[in-house]
Amino acid sequence: MINAPKGTKDLLPEESYKWQYIEKIARETANLFDIKEIRTPTFEHTEVFLRGVGEGTDIVNKEMYTFNDKGNRSITLKPEGTAGVARAFVENGMFNMPLPQKLFYITSCFRYERPQAGRLREFHQFGVEFLGSDTADTDAEAILFAKTFFDKLNVKGLTLYINSIGCKKCRAEYETALKNYLRDNLGNLCALCRERFEKNPLRILDCKNEECKKIVENAPDILDYLCDDCKVHFNKVRELLDLAGVEYKIDSKIVRGLDYYTKTVFEFVSENIGAQGTVCGGGRYDGLIEEFGGNRVPGIGFAMGIERLLLLLDSIGVKIPDLNRTEIYIAPMGEEERKKAFAIVQKLRLDGVSAETDHMNRGIKAQFKYADKIGAKFVGVIGSDELAQGKIKIKEMETGAESFVDFNDMSEFVKENRA
Ligand code: ATP
Ligand code: MG
Repeated sequence: MINAPKGTKDLLPEESYKWQYIEKIARETANLFDIKEIRTPTFEHTEVFLRGVGEGTDIVNKEMYTFNDKGNRSITLKPEGTAGVARAFVENGMFNMPLPQKLFYITSCFRYERPQAGRLREFHQFGVEFLGSDTADTDAEAILFAKTFFDKLNVKGLTLYINSIGCKKCRAEYETALKNYLRDNLGNLCALCRERFEKNPLRILDCKNEECKKIVENAPDILDYLCDDCKVHFNKVRELLDLAGVEYKIDSKIVRGLDYYTKTVFEFVSENIGAQGTVCGGGRYDGLIEEFGGNRVPGIGFAMGIERLLLLLDSIGVKIPDLNRTEIYIAPMGEEERKKAFAIVQKLRLDGVSAETDHMNRGIKAQFKYADKIGAKFVGVIGSDELAQGKIKIKEMETGAESFVDFNDMSEFVKENRA
């Protein structure tokens, strides 16, 4: 037997209906916010992620699936969605399209990580990118969109944390202060953070190592270092969230750690799903498009992990409706009846009714069992009487209620009795 690669997962029908539901709500909510879908390639030139994710990050340093293709180009499977969208935005001249461009994607992502609950090597993100606006309104709307989506799914127990990491100007000052503070404790930081100290000191703030957490507890607070412009922006985001009735906590330890990330950053975190509790993370990245050779186009976005979202939905017992329930199963009793059943289910399907019949030459009892297993709402039996009369007895499985319906009226009957 050949197994699937470590960190990947087969999605069987018993679970895929949940994904379909989440994706449906995602698309519907996006539509309400006038956010359009963008699909970018599953793989890109490695350069895209070196620029778009950044060389100081865990993703680029150790998590990417990078290989040379047969033409000896360095190719990388997308570890996240933003870089590809930024590349596409510039390449397709989307800055000439009406701004802001509000885009969403649902995509596989690939990261070479140690698989555990909520951490896979192929996982899936639902994300949005709003490109072209630098107003606090857009930040607040991105957050509000995520919140609305969670609400529509009946997700409970997510805490929203927000922060501002300032702009190039004020962050430089903060980094100096932070490094001055950390310098005395350098020996006690984890190996990774010692590396981060020079390249990316902000990242030390959200290290998960207990010792590092203790050390940064009393570190200078980035919010005390914001310049006037960044302060006004952050206050405006807060004001709009308050207006919209979105609850949040301020956590000045949240960072996105890349040079081109600016101002607002945020996370939705769950206490219910173990160590991998961050379901959604996002922020403003006013310098990103420039990295791809575009003009300065401000942007903000977020991505959420669909696997973690599902873990959360399961842990709080949200029941996800199965939108694919078979509406009617037609059970033929003999050879002639099979032909009729074959024709009838096809007619039902063309009329927009989900219908199934026997494929296995099962007897009538076994057919009922099967219909029950697949969750058919109705079962209709065709025997020689039914063939002669052109009518069929239809049983509603849940209630046992029976109706006699003309062969020609079956589609209508099922549609009229839809829940
Ligand atoms: P973490 O700190 O958990 O590693 P991250 O900062 O690497 O998260 P992002 O790059 O911000 O995560 O990705 C956004 C979201 O994608 C995460 O909040 C999470 O829900 C999901 N995610 C990230 N990596 C994985 C993974 N390996 N498996 C499953 N989901 C993931
Ligand atoms: Mg990670």
